[in-house]
Amino acid sequence: AGLVCMAPVRFAPWRSAVDVALWAELARLKLDVQRLDDAPLPLAAHFAPGQGGDAAGRGAAGPALQVSPGALGGEPVPRNRFACAGSLRNVNTLEDFSGGEARRALGEAAAAALWEAIVSGEAERDASLLGRFAVLCHADLKKWKFYHWFCYPCFALERPAELAAAAPLAAEEGEGARCEGLCAAVLAWRGACAAGEGAAQQEIVAPAAFTCGFRRAAAGASAEVKWERLDLAAVGEAFHSSDRGEGLVLAAFDPCASGSDANSAAAGWPVRNLLALAAARWVAPGEQPLRLRLLCVRERRGVVSTTDSVLMDVEVPPLDVTQGMPKALFAWERNAKGKAAPRVADLGAIMDPERLAEQAADLNLKLMRWRVLPELDTDALRATRCLLLGAGTLGCAVARGLLAWGVRTVTFTDCARVSYSNPVRQSLYSFEDCKGGGRPKAQAAAEALRAIFPGTDARHEELTIPMPGHPVGEEDSVLATKALQDAARLRALIESHDAVFVLTDTRESRWLPTLLCAALGRPLFNTALGFDSYVVMRHGAAPVDGVGCPPCAAAALDEAPRNLCLAASGARASAGSRLGCYFCNDVVAPLDSTRHRTLDQQCTVTRPGLAPIAGALAVEMLVAMVHHPDGAAAPASGGASGLAAEEVESKSPLGALAHQLRGFLGSLQQLPVAGAAYDRCTACSESVVDAYRRQGDAFLLRAFNEPSYLEELTGLAEMKRAAEGADCAWDGSDGEMSGDDW
Ligand SMILES: [Zn+2]
Ligand SMILES: [Zn+2]
Repeated sequence: AGLVCMAPVRFAPWRSAVDVALWAELARLKLDVQRLDDAPLPLAAHFAPGQGGDAAGRGAAGPALQVSPGALGGEPVPRNRFACAGSLRNVNTLEDFSGGEARRALGEAAAAALWEAIVSGEAERDASLLGRFAVLCHADLKKWKFYHWFCYPCFALERPAELAAAAPLAAEEGEGARCEGLCAAVLAWRGACAAGEGAAQQEIVAPAAFTCGFRRAAAGASAEVKWERLDLAAVGEAFHSSDRGEGLVLAAFDPCASGSDANSAAAGWPVRNLLALAAARWVAPGEQPLRLRLLCVRERRGVVSTTDSVLMDVEVPPLDVTQGMPKALFAWERNAKGKAAPRVADLGAIMDPERLAEQAADLNLKLMRWRVLPELDTDALRATRCLLLGAGTLGCAVARGLLAWGVRTVTFTDCARVSYSNPVRQSLYSFEDCKGGGRPKAQAAAEALRAIFPGTDARHEELTIPMPGHPVGEEDSVLATKALQDAARLRALIESHDAVFVLTDTRESRWLPTLLCAALGRPLFNTALGFDSYVVMRHGAAPVDGVGCPPCAAAALDEAPRNLCLAASGARASAGSRLGCYFCNDVVAPLDSTRHRTLDQQCTVTRPGLAPIAGALAVEMLVAMVHHPDGAAAPASGGASGLAAEEVESKSPLGALAHQLRGFLGSLQQLPVAGAAYDRCTACSESVVDAYRRQGDAFLLRAFNEPSYLEELTGLAEMKRAAEGADCAWDGSDGEMSGDDW
């Protein structure tokens, strides 16, 4: 072609194009899998041929290196794309990200990997290694910002490849031209790449190589020109043969689409490293430069374009690999403003606020798993459905504690309305809730919980809990019908929840929930307050081997936190050491405690700090139970008295799981207490639970109506008569003991 003025081949830098879903996936990996580990992760990117861009790499016009959402999970690149092998290192701190050290190390590692792939010949078998790139990243998971910086390593060769001539493929394609029929061969190659050559229709195949060689086949009898396709290893052999690859065309799908003449042509980054491979492996040191016909194949709208595709005559001087790795260049990508600075993907700005809140709420819990509590089971907590009986001071405190632990399903029951005295102590209410007679508490509490965190499944039910010693009259009377309906609704609520918190303010209102939970095998957390003292306790397992738990037996409800079910098989492993209930220490049945009381005795007059303390302790008790291998059947830690299975060291990763905690603010003391179930208990003993199971409503009516019925049934009455006969005084058999002072 005569004398030409040669200049180094120019290359258009990449522009990274990351699917935003990748960052969400990175956040998940970081929180749930990687945690503090910041080792690089493999990351495959891909490109389509001929997307624009120029050697100056101006603006957004550069060829895009695309990263799909599934790239971190090893998902193969799309079949019609060409893969580039990369890695992503997500460092733990913004300081690590901004400091030069991590960046330098990552760039050098990528360059070393590229060099190794070239000199070992590995890149001839897997051309995606020539597209080597690296990403340094820092995920700010509190703000959902992902700082990232792409690096594309290459080598600064002392004698770079030079461009002798360039022309569009179309100009060389005509009949009788040197490259007649080459386009057809390229199209056949492209078709094979897209289809996954040799693979069945649905089979996942290794990504196609972006480059191969074509050699004009010896002219046969047919007039048609044939091109034989060679893989890169065969191309190398051809260049080492005596004719030094005469008539051979090295073709490469080129992400760049810039220029098709010697002045304007530029190639994409993978071609740069392909030419480095040619210099290192296909021409021996001391030899004349390799004369290479390079076809940069470009597409337009998914079809190979003979006018955009360019044939370049390139001279490749040898690169002596025995001298070691040449000087590496780390092309750190410029940001959108063209500055040498990282990019930031700000998902916080584009995410739905409710989803952001959801992710942020989980964040604090998931961070616990990084170091302090790897066993934290956020899924189990999320699945635990909690029923709160009482939406007062304690109900508000318990609900907020549950929310903080990631519990998502909370149902409030209460029968009262918000009064002007409530908001200052009850954290879910405000002044507005008190107006016009007050909003129903359960409803206001549920709405407040959803307002605090929209991801909450907060429900409410107006419910009066029927109480023993509060007569309701004969069966079929209005009062009796209502009481039995309320009892049935309470039972249904308990059945549809996994844990029950009893947070009412009278002793007798705790009786029916205690009985129902004992009969149904639901764990119950009881919290009661005195003026400056509190008790937080969990009730033990069901007293008699019942019918089992239909929900737990049904495989369909696999997601329910099974270990909270006291009725499930195995839950009574520690039979004989059954933990007691709130009523087990009493020798009197619960009676109406609200009559003949002055105002200060009717209302819960307690030190304001008490309810938040006790409510929080009840929640922590549930969380420890969820994490205990024995779940609701876990024996008591500490303070055990006469229990068979006294537990010295708790098996819960959260530590001790007491039966009862009794706290005294006046003396700054808190004691774990454990007590076995009492066989004459008026709420949880076998005789009571058995009578309820057999007689149902008839039993309940007698318990509501007849003050002495429960004591007679359990044998307490007989015992008292015997004791009175022995002239023994029962401590607190009236007055104080019937209140909620435990
Ligand atoms: Zn169950
Ligand atoms: Zn009991």
